[in-house]
Amino acid sequence: MKTRENKNGYWFYIESYAHLSIKKNDTLLYNPLTGKILTFIDNPLISQLMRRLALPQNMYTIHLTDRDLRQPDIRQFVQSVRDNFIGDLIDVSSCPIKPIQVHPIMKIQQDANILKKGTQRSIGEDIMAYLSDLWLYVNGNCTQDCSICRDAYRQFNFCTSSREKNLELSIADIKRIVEELPPGIPQNIHILGGNILSYAHLVNLLELIPADCRTSLYIHYLNADRHKEKIQHISKHNITLELLFSFPLIKEKAYRAIQALKEPGIDFRFSFSIRNTGEFEEANELIQLNPEIGATFHPLFDGTNIDFFSENIFVKAEEIERIKPSLKEVHSRGIVNPNYFGNLIIRPDGRVYADVNAPSLGKIQENSIFDILVKEVESGTSWRKVRKNVLPCKSCVFEKLCPPISNYNTAVGRFDLCSIRRQASQKKIK
Ligand code: SF4
Ligand code: SF4
Repeated sequence: MKTRENKNGYWFYIESYAHLSIKKNDTLLYNPLTGKILTFIDNPLISQLMRRLALPQNMYTIHLTDRDLRQPDIRQFVQSVRDNFIGDLIDVSSCPIKPIQVHPIMKIQQDANILKKGTQRSIGEDIMAYLSDLWLYVNGNCTQDCSICRDAYRQFNFCTSSREKNLELSIADIKRIVEELPPGIPQNIHILGGNILSYAHLVNLLELIPADCRTSLYIHYLNADRHKEKIQHISKHNITLELLFSFPLIKEKAYRAIQALKEPGIDFRFSFSIRNTGEFEEANELIQLNPEIGATFHPLFDGTNIDFFSENIFVKAEEIERIKPSLKEVHSRGIVNPNYFGNLIIRPDGRVYADVNAPSLGKIQENSIFDILVKEVESGTSWRKVRKNVLPCKSCVFEKLCPPISNYNTAVGRFDLCSIRRQASQKKIK
């Protein structure tokens, strides 16, 4: 940084691509191009300077004098900003007119708040375009007895027979739903149960789904080595199949299930529900025996494994820096929750949810999909469940950088599944 005496001072500016967050005396700057995060915790001098930068009339550019820059905290702050390509100093002598930084104002296409104001059908019609993923729990029937049956589906996509054991969606109701959907909507249809292979209308259902929807089926490995005819039928459709695994693993059954899907050439991948490192290792053994098959792991909170969770789920600042969320993602996280936005879940009793842990929005026997979407946009809590509305995240500078709220937050019962707040308070200037 320049240290020679400069009577005119400097313009100090923040780049238009940077993200800035100020909460009381804490400040954060983020460079989405490099992923670098700078935090200045409990530093009133820096937060004051940042507030000046953020004033609309200043447009992220302020004047700093030599005297300002001689203050160690400001000098160190400006140096970090420059070193990380988040902003710079311009000598006023070489640029007498204040430079302008134009910062993007995010306008999420068809912002939910705009829609909320729309009362006429013509505006509301656009709501249908929001529906990206439809989750059909077609039945609750299953003869297995997995201990995780009540919990797993509340945390990630998994089968469950815990409620509505003897209920199933009628094919007439599903037909009505499909007929109401405009072409190309939703992009994805997910079919889950219970044991969907015991769903009497599975074949009809697959015929009903429009060819332009991507279809995924979810079948537990304990249920996959029977119903050969249905599995043959599935193989004729352009679908992907998630083969679900929970523990303890019955290896013989797992091998049989894998074989039953490989033989007819079904496109499938493994989806593991994992509670501890032992289960993770067992899952890996199965993957190594089938290296050509893709796999996803879903940590499962069972009330006793918070240490496993803190290792595998708790977000760390370094992870955010590695993932490098784009500026668009960062801003949109202040408006909608991508984990829920666009999703509708229909349970075997016909009740519809925007997320499995939220209250029902209606019943498909009584309400149209259109009405249900309007209800979520107007008064629902899931699609717009964002960190700026919940404690302690709303008072944390990472609020828009952290991954969106998920079902894990509900399962564990807290929003701050992170190691960041502790790290930040230990390290006041990073
Ligand atoms: S296979 Fe799935 S639906 Fe059946 S008991 Fe196990 S978790 Fe529940
Ligand atoms: S999870 Fe919440 S409290 Fe933790 S760092 Fe993220 S925003 Fe802050």
